[in-house]
Amino acid sequence: MQRIGFIGLGIMGKPMAQNLLKAGYPLVVYNRSRPAMDELTTEGARLADSPKAIAEQSDVVISCVSDSPDVEAVALGSDGIIEGAKPGLLYIDMSTIAPATARKVYTTLKATGVEALDAPVSGGDIGAQQGTLSIMVGGDEAAFQRSLPILQAMGKNIVYIGEAGAGQVTKACNQIIVALTVQAVAEALTLAKKAGVDVAKVREALMGGFAQSRILDIHGKRILEGDFQPGFKLNLHRKDMNIVLQTGREMGVPLFGSAQVTSMMDALLAQDKGELDNSAIATLYELLSGLT
Ligand code: NAP
Repeated sequence: MQRIGFIGLGIMGKPMAQNLLKAGYPLVVYNRSRPAMDELTTEGARLADSPKAIAEQSDVVISCVSDSPDVEAVALGSDGIIEGAKPGLLYIDMSTIAPATARKVYTTLKATGVEALDAPVSGGDIGAQQGTLSIMVGGDEAAFQRSLPILQAMGKNIVYIGEAGAGQVTKACNQIIVALTVQAVAEALTLAKKAGVDVAKVREALMGGFAQSRILDIHGKRILEGDFQPGFKLNLHRKDMNIVLQTGREMGVPLFGSAQVTSMMDALLAQDKGELDNSAIATLYELLSGLT
């Protein structure tokens, strides 16, 4: 079995790494801060002290960190993957980052004999825990075929999109739909609440019709319960909307809905709500509707 190294044990990375262990892969892990690593070692993973050390001990390296500069640091920086990699290593980045950064990482590593895939995910913390993530992949098709059994331990709907960066373009499209649907659910449930009808029954009724969605289900429940523990943090979704708006500008595509929901996110970040789940957009609707 291929030896896997995993970098970034956050809300997403930790359960993804746990699913690789459950599938029987020998796993070495690195996280910038310590507690998440200790949990993984009790489940059978070994520890490494840098991305470089991870690359030295692995056939395949996976990362799931926050943003474009973080992926650049982990992959190409000092003590990064590039310093420990041997030709033939496969690097799969599963973070959500700018397509341009994914292409830069691909090109730089390719010159050293390392294959790179951009393989961002959708499905949230629950999908990561259940191993049911949707995974959208960019890079060389042969590298994708090599990655497939590994990705199947973490996800269900795994689609090869095209050349390097194509996975991240797909993820940007995903984030538009998620942002606008969270906004729609928050808007609708606020209207129901202000109108004095039973919001739980509204959600139950809508779940059986055309308005049904995973977001009405999961985020709708969070809004109903006022439980905004992340999930997917607002500041990470705001980071993704930056990628979305930038890509729209580069392509000459006006993204009206994305621009509007991004401003709502900015209002929430100005209230120090960036660490809450993205469904906390409902709190802004409630505030502006005189409900809080
Ligand atoms: P998170 O809980 O904040 O975890 C981020 C992880 O990245 C942490 O382990 C953090 O280490 C590590 N990290 C950040 N910068 C780093 C750096 N410069 N060097 C080394 N490690 C670094 O975030 P998450 O929710 O797991 O999200 C991870 C990625 O998946 C993001 O790109 C996000 O947009 C994407 N994503 C998230 C979801 C979701 O529902 N949460 C869904 C799909 C995609 P520390 O522990 O030391 O901070």
